[in-house]
Amino acid sequence: MRHLTGLALALAVVLAADLTPAEAAPAKKLLVVSVTKGFRHDSIPTVERVVEVLGKAGGAFAVDYARTDADLAARMTPAALGAYDGVVFASTTGDLPLPDRQGFLDWIATGKAFVGIHAATDTFPGFPPYIAMIGGQFLKHGPQVKVDLLVQDPEHPATKGMASPTAVFDEIYQMKNFDQAKTHTLLALDKHPNEGTPGFYPLAWSREHGKGRVFYTALGHREDVLEADWFKKHLLGGILWSLGAPGTPSK
Ligand SMILES: [Zn+2]
Repeated sequence: MRHLTGLALALAVVLAADLTPAEAAPAKKLLVVSVTKGFRHDSIPTVERVVEVLGKAGGAFAVDYARTDADLAARMTPAALGAYDGVVFASTTGDLPLPDRQGFLDWIATGKAFVGIHAATDTFPGFPPYIAMIGGQFLKHGPQVKVDLLVQDPEHPATKGMASPTAVFDEIYQMKNFDQAKTHTLLALDKHPNEGTPGFYPLAWSREHGKGRVFYTALGHREDVLEADWFKKHLLGGILWSLGAPGTPSK
């Protein structure tokens, strides 16, 4: 019960946009993965720091890191994952050498959290079950551009209280292998990010993977986006939701 209480408190804190440090010991543990086999973002250290600080500020979770192939081998076997409540893919890219990649997806499905940030959808292009788990796949991006994010669910912890539209200047991903029927869209554009032609462009969503909860945001290429208060609130809400904060919707 103490864990549930801690999460509920952390969620109340984030919804109030008050990130003052909590006294309680972290209730949950997340493994933050930043190994890359394709493009490597300079902003990865910022992603790591933002996630760690958000966990400490709300007292909801602590983090470990998997930054090398050796870390993946040691910490991501199904047995070793038992030490964690969830995993964050921090702009990972390419086909990561996990010791048991299907075992990892099966572990999430037992009721664990998966959080993907930015290039997490540019990961495991050669492993379709991962794409199905995260809910979409990076297709391409144009030049960095200012877009108006439209909130699709104002009640979800990842978007509650967020202005709609919210203007952001970032590298904006376009997706493939995204199925609106299998995801709960949280942020989207109603026009092409660079060309302005009308359309539907999902940029953040949640979904369930078995009993697990998956949250993904395509935003966060730029460090000034990662450091923005609205982004931190968006990310923390998504993390806490994925960790199963009580009183939150299941999608
Ligand atoms: Zn990027």
